[in-house]
Amino acid sequence: MDAITLLTPAKINLSIDVLKRLDNGYHQVEMIMQAVGLYDTVTIEKRDKGISISCSVPYVPCGSRNIAWKAAQAFFDVCSEKGGIHIDIKKNIPVAAGLAGGSTNAAGVLKGLNLLYGSPLGKEELHRLSSKLGADVAFCLDGGTQLARGIGDELTVLPDFADVNVVLVKPPFSVSTAWVYKNLNLNDLGNRPRTELLLKAVSDHDVHTVAGNMENVLESVTVRKYPEIKRIMDLLLEYGALGSRMSGSGPTVFGIFDSSDSAARAFEHFKKRYEQVFHVKTIGRGEYKA
Ligand code: ATP
Repeated sequence: MDAITLLTPAKINLSIDVLKRLDNGYHQVEMIMQAVGLYDTVTIEKRDKGISISCSVPYVPCGSRNIAWKAAQAFFDVCSEKGGIHIDIKKNIPVAAGLAGGSTNAAGVLKGLNLLYGSPLGKEELHRLSSKLGADVAFCLDGGTQLARGIGDELTVLPDFADVNVVLVKPPFSVSTAWVYKNLNLNDLGNRPRTELLLKAVSDHDVHTVAGNMENVLESVTVRKYPEIKRIMDLLLEYGALGSRMSGSGPTVFGIFDSSDSAARAFEHFKKRYEQVFHVKTIGRGEYKA
């Protein structure tokens, strides 16, 4: 096999809590992460030497600043494989949007390269490499529903919270994750998630309780600067969402719906006003497509 194509899924956060700021600048977090059926297409082709990237959108870097490039470099560094690779990325996932678009591409490249080269790396080694590339990459290796603790890299697999209708709305601006964390005031986080209650609701697949109790403390920074985020959340609720939150450090907002029909109605409404709107479903761990 000389080439492989993977569909790499986005994620949303059903909750984000920040527990403390660490001396090294990182934050201790507690968040429930959920993969959703919105995919970039990543094709990896063996080449004689070097790492090259092409991407369907011009504003994603194509060289060594692309996290997919870093993933390929990390793979070749640890296993003695000689050779090169071309990575082609077709972007569907909005960029710098809180949906882990880069991280999921990087996880896809690690998995894809490992498959192309006859699986030289085990699960643990893949996880070790992922954590070094970025906080969300290790989650993206397996996807599904997971609890992330520590600096986001201590992962616990949860029962799949799959097949739930979600509408994603990406407002027409981007937010830098570093800026959000820099401006976070730990004494003024607003509503904090009740993580234990959410974990129970996730394992019961209780969509109403999950949707009604989602919280994201990073909204305390982004909503102040971008009130449009709050307006979208309110409008999703008006359009029948059981709950609505910002994903990650934003600015994408999502709503959870109890039926495909009500999600489709909200989708139609938002589609008239925003360019990047998606009606998707949450997906389980087995649904990472290759
Ligand atoms: P997270 O939710 O993990 O914080 P995000 O969804 O907010 O991530 P990304 O889409 O991963 O953000 O993009 C963050 C930055 O990384 C962008 O400025 C982008 O230019 C850069 N980047 C590097 N590689 C990629 C890639 N493969 N896909 C998207 N962005 C990339």
